[in-house]
Amino acid sequence: STSQYRNFPMVPRVVFGEGSFSQLGEILLPKRRNSEAPFIFLVDDFFENEEFAAQIPLIFNDELIFISANEEPKTEQVDALVKRIQDTYEELPSGIIGIGGGTLLDLAKAVAILLNNNGRAEQYQGWDLVNRPALYHVGVPTISGTGAEVSRTTVLLGPEKKLGINSDYTTYDQVILDPDLTKTVPKEQWFYTGMDCFIHCIESLNGTYLNAFSQSYGEKALELCKEVFLEDIPECESRDKLMMASWHGGMSIAYSQVGIAHAVSYGLSYLLGVKHGIGNCLVFQHLGEFYPDGVQLFRKMIEKHNIKLPQGVCSNLTQNDFDIMVNVALGMDALWENALGKEWKTIMTPERLQAIYQRI
Ligand code: NAD
Ligand code: ZN
Repeated sequence: STSQYRNFPMVPRVVFGEGSFSQLGEILLPKRRNSEAPFIFLVDDFFENEEFAAQIPLIFNDELIFISANEEPKTEQVDALVKRIQDTYEELPSGIIGIGGGTLLDLAKAVAILLNNNGRAEQYQGWDLVNRPALYHVGVPTISGTGAEVSRTTVLLGPEKKLGINSDYTTYDQVILDPDLTKTVPKEQWFYTGMDCFIHCIESLNGTYLNAFSQSYGEKALELCKEVFLEDIPECESRDKLMMASWHGGMSIAYSQVGIAHAVSYGLSYLLGVKHGIGNCLVFQHLGEFYPDGVQLFRKMIEKHNIKLPQGVCSNLTQNDFDIMVNVALGMDALWENALGKEWKTIMTPERLQAIYQRI
């Protein structure tokens, strides 16, 4: 392509507010193609109870599928869901609604893409490999931090790689931001996923790809993170602010890139299945030489909320294990270039990277 600047998609419609989830039914109604074309709700199984199920606006042959977020989404899991939906209904669904944290938000995006594009999910891992629009899809985050609700990617673990389906069709058509849905998030999970947002800000704001677009969102998100994690504000205000921080953090990296913590954390996730939020925290604490101010703030936040990060995660690994993680991490060229500049390979050698892993 000859164009110098990316023409990047944004979520065209968003609702924000406590209790706004109750508007989902009226939002979906005009998008219903006919009574045979169902809406499929993919919901984090934390919400598998009658009280929550009663709030889902099911009509006709709509289907509610509860899914565990214990493991990060896989390409096979996407393929299986797509097949199940295709086998069950004569018509394509009217749309897909993802309700949950980053895991469910990513799954729902991928299912919406694959229902309208032939083949398997792994074929679309990469950049701009999706040819046809996704089905109409709606995202409803229930934890704040990943920015998956605004991003143009869905990160999937495939047979060969952990990589996003990055495309203009990945982005949600509609998002519902209801901070009440995050009330039940356990404290540690709140912290780890919230730190994903904080780290998005630090990596974006300290990257060589920074521009005024990214900076404007990143600075706002960082300010909100500081209020949420370092000040004592009322809980409802804190939920509102972290939800908006996640949104702005996601917007910030959309037009720049993440950095070292994300690259290194991908290695941990690939080899050991360490989840994104906690993985980023495990890595970020050791990145003081690259992000001095960010790491200092991070330490204050850890202390204030009395979070005990696991230790010795890499203590029993073999040289082969380290080689695998180093390879996965160093394969993320754009992240390193953003963090360290074009000459990044002379700065982050495999040896230096392994030394970081060995401290985790
Ligand atoms: P998650 O979705 O993995 O969920 C973490 C845990 O919280 C799960 O046990 C889940 O059941 C539980 N949970 C969710 N909502 C809850 C609620 N309201 N109350 C109680 N428990 C609740 O967590 P996450 O950190 O939001 O998402 C991580 C995933 O997001 C990773 O797979 C990562 O790759 C992905 N991610 C995607 C993007 C993107 O742009 N697409 C960006 C960052 C991360
Ligand atoms: Zn992240």
